[in-house]
Amino acid sequence: MSDTPTETKPSFRSDVTVELVKHAAGDSDVLWAARVSTAGEQSLEELSKDPERSKGLINFLMRDRHGSPFEHNSMTFFISAPIFVFREFMRHRVGWSYNEESGRYRELQPVFYVPDASRKLVQEGRPGKYVFVDGTREQQELTGRVMEESYVRAYGAYQEMLAAGVAREVARAVLPVGLFSSMYATCNARSLMHFLGLRTQHEQARTPSFPQREIEMVAERMEQHWAQLMPLTHAAFNANGRVAP
Ligand SMILES: Cc1cc2nc3c(=O)[nH]c(=O)nc-3n(C[C@H](O)[C@H](O)[C@H](O)COP(=O)(O)OP(=O)(O)OC[C@H]3O[C@@H](n4cnc5c(N)ncnc54)[C@H](O)[C@@H]3O)c2cc1C
Repeated sequence: MSDTPTETKPSFRSDVTVELVKHAAGDSDVLWAARVSTAGEQSLEELSKDPERSKGLINFLMRDRHGSPFEHNSMTFFISAPIFVFREFMRHRVGWSYNEESGRYRELQPVFYVPDASRKLVQEGRPGKYVFVDGTREQQELTGRVMEESYVRAYGAYQEMLAAGVAREVARAVLPVGLFSSMYATCNARSLMHFLGLRTQHEQARTPSFPQREIEMVAERMEQHWAQLMPLTHAAFNANGRVAP
């Protein structure tokens, strides 16, 4: 928690960073936990013997919402995304641990979010029934320009206060929610599934959700990592309507 060299010229990003930095997670953890009542520790050896049975058991647990066997694993992600994404992310309380960079102990770096041309800019419809459609070229140009100008002004105000000796924790009040932050987020497969069910739009979802695109970008990348670690669990999640057990 110390000062790092400061870049004072704002830079702009339209993507997010998601890295899997640590994990102890596999389909075998689910099977091991589920079978302990009948087979005890010996079940570890059974896992690779009968893949069809393993697949069937995971699917049964998912379908009938026996959730606790999906908790005996751990994944830690490094995520860098705008503060408005973190504000939504940290609403997920159960089965999650967070550590975010400090704006009190270090100077915040001037990296800001500006959507690219793929981001649908215009919201139509009524609450609960929104659809998003592409912006016009003019709206895209305006959004990028106004955001960048606004970020530059805000970061200049932050720098002015720091230069005058104002504490970082006070000066940061002028910074917008488009500022990038970074955090470690640790979860297990069950809490991740609950998050994915709410923060992605997916054709296999039994109950559709309508997340903000930027948190969905984070969720999609997390899901890609998880699917590689726990392919049977991931497939069962999809096959059972993307509802966390
Ligand atoms: C599309 C979308 C729009 C949203 N819009 C808004 C909004 O406008 N305003 C807003 O404030 N939030 C909004 N949210 C956040 C939402 O209300 C939840 O806070 C967030 O999705 C986390 O879900 P959760 O509470 O189920 O998750 P977690 O906190 O991880 O909880 C997991 C589960 O544990 C149980 N649980 C946790 N805490 C309690 C508790 N205190 N009492 C009883 N059971 C508990 C519940 O079963 C819960 O589903 C939105 C979320 C989504 C996905």
